[in-house]
Amino acid sequence: MNREEKLEKLVKLLRQAFGDAEGLKSSGPFEMLILAILAFEDGLEAAKRASAALLAEFVDWNEVRVSSWKEIGAILEKERISSPGDKAIALKRSLEAVFTETNRMDLDAVSKMPQEKAVNLLLKLKDMDEGSLAALLYLHVGLQTLAPTQRLLRVAQRIGFIQESAMPSSMKQNLSSFVGQRNAFRFHYLLGKLGEKYCFEKAAFCGKCPALPYCHRGAACAPWPADDGNESKA
Ligand code: SF4
Repeated sequence: MNREEKLEKLVKLLRQAFGDAEGLKSSGPFEMLILAILAFEDGLEAAKRASAALLAEFVDWNEVRVSSWKEIGAILEKERISSPGDKAIALKRSLEAVFTETNRMDLDAVSKMPQEKAVNLLLKLKDMDEGSLAALLYLHVGLQTLAPTQRLLRVAQRIGFIQESAMPSSMKQNLSSFVGQRNAFRFHYLLGKLGEKYCFEKAAFCGKCPALPYCHRGAACAPWPADDGNESKA
């Protein structure tokens, strides 16, 4: 199977496993960030219900940011959101990233900026959930070429879309031109989510990963080191 065929098959498989995020298009930037985290695996309607439940419980998103992940997770669990603890942590991390970089709890500014400036700002939000970053970059800001983050490069390398020995700059260029405009959002969103849920920097849970049938590294799946729960996002 060549790279193009593998890309098509993998994207199709991951869309079935994780759901489709195209519906996020209708949201404003800040809402998009929240929904991209909550909709993963459960869909947009469940995400909207969970988002409303959080806002009914907390004064605003800033209060969510400073609350404990356990409190947030309990509300998400009540709303039957999958992996509520992980999503509570991703939500807190993303809200913190926005607050740290913009000094406020909204992202309206990216709507009014020139595209290049908006992309640079979003890529600075290192701790943002990768799926939210993808939704904002491609669906909201209108980026048309892939913006490979370290997390995305790691997963793409392990799956076998790019050579592990290549220089970072050539890896980025190679991956961007291979993925192309048509697949940029889905590729970034779906592989980014793999990197958030299964394919960590220091550990990979290949046995549970839906990409396993198409993954080069996963095929040689030796037991990986246990997850230390401290993955750092580059
Ligand atoms: S199968 Fe393993 S190495 Fe491949 S993407 Fe999934 S977790 Fe990563």
